[in-house]
Amino acid sequence: MDLTEQIVLDPQLCRECGGRCCQGSPGLWVDPQRFFAIFFAGQQLSLETLRDKLPGLGLVFWEKSGVPIPAPVSVMAGCAFWREDGCGFSTEERPCQCLALIPAVQTLKQQGCACRLPKQYHFEQARLAWGEYWRV
Ligand code: SF4
Ligand code: SF4
Repeated sequence: MDLTEQIVLDPQLCRECGGRCCQGSPGLWVDPQRFFAIFFAGQQLSLETLRDKLPGLGLVFWEKSGVPIPAPVSVMAGCAFWREDGCGFSTEERPCQCLALIPAVQTLKQQGCACRLPKQYHFEQARLAWGEYWRV
């Protein structure tokens, strides 16, 4: 999966919206290889080593599905990396789901988020990719 081909950023629309998606739930890193390239220079860590290192990065595992998937910490206001002026991560570092979300102007005209996440970035895909990663 090549995320760079998927990104549809609309900074103006997202600024106007104020980050409604971020104030709901943080996005996930769907692709393990991309995650390790960003945070560990490509070094692939064991589950237990990564578990030890996540808090220092402001990250947690989502693991209710039975498969640990790294994500930003959640707080009452949504994602802990959300700020009034945007995301605390650079575009290169941002979770795959955050980058893949396609901004829709309809969001400004309704309650909640009308922006669309392509199927290959849905939670189930993250679960499959990380499940496979932890098995090897
Ligand atoms: S909810 Fe949609 S329009 Fe609003 S910040 Fe998120 S991606 Fe942008
Ligand atoms: S990581 Fe950034 S873009 Fe993703 S939910 Fe958090 S603040 Fe929003």
